[in-house]
Amino acid sequence: MRYRRFGRTNLNLSVFSLGTMRYLGSAMEAEGVVQRAIALGVNHLETAPAYGPSEAYLGQSLKNLPVSDPLYITTKVLPKGTCEDIMQQVDQSLGRLGRDHLECLALHGLNQPEHLGWLDQGGQGALEAVLASGKVAHIGFSSHGPLEVILAAMENPLFSFVNLHYTYFFQRNAPAIARAREKDLGIFIISPADKGGRLYRPPEKLDQLCQPLSPLHWAYRWLLSQPAIATLSFGPATVAEVDFPLGIADEDGPLTAIEKEILDRLDRVFQALPQGDRCEQCYACLPCPEDIHIPEVLRLRNLTLAYDMQEFGEYRYRMFGQAGHWFPGQPAHTCTECGDCLPRCPSNLEIPRLLQDAHDRLRGPQRRRLWETI
Ligand code: SF4
Ligand code: SF4
Repeated sequence: MRYRRFGRTNLNLSVFSLGTMRYLGSAMEAEGVVQRAIALGVNHLETAPAYGPSEAYLGQSLKNLPVSDPLYITTKVLPKGTCEDIMQQVDQSLGRLGRDHLECLALHGLNQPEHLGWLDQGGQGALEAVLASGKVAHIGFSSHGPLEVILAAMENPLFSFVNLHYTYFFQRNAPAIARAREKDLGIFIISPADKGGRLYRPPEKLDQLCQPLSPLHWAYRWLLSQPAIATLSFGPATVAEVDFPLGIADEDGPLTAIEKEILDRLDRVFQALPQGDRCEQCYACLPCPEDIHIPEVLRLRNLTLAYDMQEFGEYRYRMFGQAGHWFPGQPAHTCTECGDCLPRCPSNLEIPRLLQDAHDRLRGPQRRRLWETI
C-alpha cells in the first residue's frame, strides 16, 4: 500500500480508501470487509449517515478489531439545517462510530448554488463551531454538481479537502483538480469503479482496448499516475471484493509505456467517431430551457458508441429526472427542438437529433404498463 499526503490536512492516507456505501448486508460481513481492508494497509474509511447502517456497522467493526496503526475516518453531513442540527448530527455520528472525534467531516453533496447559499446563511458558522469544538479536525465537501459550484466552494478557506468525480471517462472536473492542487486541498476521488463506468463488468470492446490490463485496473492506474490525487474510494460489498484493488495499491508511479499505449488506443477510438456524432464535452450548449443536461446525455452516448458502454449508459441515463440534484437533468426525449443550444455548440452538432438517438439507445427495455399485465 502506498500513502499520500491529503493536502493541507497533512494526513497521510492510503491511496485506496474504503467506501462503506455498499456493505449493507450484515454487521458481520461489514466487519470482515473492514478487517481485510485494514490488514491490506487501508487507513482511511469513508461513511455517511445517508448510507443506511454504514456508520453503526463501521463503529461495531472497529470496536472488535485490534487496530494499532492510525486510522482515519471521514463521515458526512448534509448542507442544511441550523447550527444545533449540525452539532447534533455530528454527535450522533460520533456515537454510532464509537469515537470522541473524527479526522474529517465532509459536507455531503454540495451540488447547487443553494448549498453555497446555505453556507452564507449560517452553515459556515455551524461548521466553524464544529471545528472549534475539537470533535472534527478537518472539513471538506463532496460534490456531484456543476464545475462552477465546485470551483466556487473551493475558494472557501473552511475546506481542507474535496471529494469529486473524476476519471478517464469523465474529465469535466479536471480544472477543479488543478485548482484543488493549487490550494493544497486534499483530493479524494469518488467511486472510479462503478459510477466511473460500472467497470466491475466491462463490455468486451473496452476489455480488449485496455489489454493487457482490465478496464478497472486501467482506470485506477490513470488516477494513481497523477500525484495530486491523494486517494480513491472503492466500495466492496463483500470480503471477496476487497483484494483486487488493494493488489495494485503499490502501482502509483507514472504511466508505463504499455499504459500509455492503452491511453493512446482509447483516445484514438474516441477521436475516430464521426465529427458530427462526437460531443466534445465543452458544456457551451447549456443552459437548456427544458433542463436537459445535454453534455452528460451525450457523454453517455459517446461512451456507448466508442467503447460499447451500453449497460453503464442505460444505468445512468435512467436516472435523469429521478435523482434531483444528485444527478440533474431531464430525459433527452423532452427536447422541444427550440434550437436555443444550437448556435452555442462549437462543433455544430445537431443536438436534438443526437439527444433523440441517445434516448432511443439508452432508455433500455420498455417496462410493461400495469394495465397490460391485467
Ligand atoms: S433544442 Fe432541445 S436541447 Fe436544445 S435548448 Fe432546446 S430543448 Fe434544450
Ligand atoms: S456545446 Fe456541443 S460539443 Fe459542447 S458539450 Fe454541448 S453538445 Fe457537446
